[in-house]
Amino acid sequence: MNTTQLESRRMYYQKELAEGVERFFEPRRHDCPWCGSTNLSVRLRTPDLHQRKPGQFVLEQCDTCRHIFQNPRLSPAGLAFYYRDFYDGLGQQRAEWGFRIQQSIYLSRAKMLKPFTIPRAWLDVGAGYGHFCQAATAAWPDTIFDGLDQGAGIKEAQRRGWVRHGYQGGFIALADELAGRYDVMSMHHYLEHTQEPFDELDIAARVLLPGGYLLIEVPDPEYRFGDMLGRTWSQWCQPQHQHLFPFGNLVRALADRGFSLAAVERGAAHLMYADLTASLALLLNVCAPDSRLPWLTVTPTYLRRLRRTAALIVTMPLLAGTLTLDTLLSWAVRRTGTGNAYRVLVRKSD
Ligand SMILES: [Zn+2]
Repeated sequence: MNTTQLESRRMYYQKELAEGVERFFEPRRHDCPWCGSTNLSVRLRTPDLHQRKPGQFVLEQCDTCRHIFQNPRLSPAGLAFYYRDFYDGLGQQRAEWGFRIQQSIYLSRAKMLKPFTIPRAWLDVGAGYGHFCQAATAAWPDTIFDGLDQGAGIKEAQRRGWVRHGYQGGFIALADELAGRYDVMSMHHYLEHTQEPFDELDIAARVLLPGGYLLIEVPDPEYRFGDMLGRTWSQWCQPQHQHLFPFGNLVRALADRGFSLAAVERGAAHLMYADLTASLALLLNVCAPDSRLPWLTVTPTYLRRLRRTAALIVTMPLLAGTLTLDTLLSWAVRRTGTGNAYRVLVRKSD
């Protein structure tokens, strides 16, 4: 990103921020969106540790059903503001690097279908740049993969030939166009980003062919080590994650929509570097953010850039340590059959 592009973005962000970020939030709700209980408590208060955009975010927990949700939640304009330059623009290179290094995870997701079916047409919802679809062809060379995403990256996936068709837009809005075309659908780390997950599941049940399979992977809010990392646990991912689903809640919601449980993977879904390594990266963002970021209100002085460079140098040996510890932690938690994420594979009735 050159200086001119950075400056044009700085003008946009500083203009938006001058009007205040409070307008990006909807009114706080007083009941649980999952079960309707008013028995709520604050689980986490945090700023944006990922991009360091201004704002404070609250995750509340329902003390009746344990569902966790952002409250107050962001408005559509707020979501657009906070997503901007995360997966595209300034953030595209970093995001694509993050997707590229997950090849083995993608393959293990794709192979989860092996005992049950041979997919003919597979729709990946929340497909990003199509990295999963590209990797999954190694497991399913004869399957047609399509992808859907809000971002323009899905059109890039189609251009690269990683998906046959890239649908850009919302899953709910595109439901009529998609209905009856797919015998397998997947939502990997997608559902927690949506504002109305019940509606998303309703649409999934409508769109999928009878006897088809739906594969969902989401962060596991019941993962104890996540709590120990506090607000630096990457899977809280504020302000993007709107909902976090305890395993039992999600399985019941799927059963309510006529899906039967085919398989569950907990340890196998664990994301290896989403704990200590990601925490370290977030701490670096807090202690020494890149002062050139156009949404920061600080001036990118020489001293601030020097501090960032010094922090990066100090972090390097720590990074080697956390990578090793995360590898050991992954080995240990997978043996216990838990992890920072879980997968469920369900089948729609004939
Ligand atoms: Zn509840």
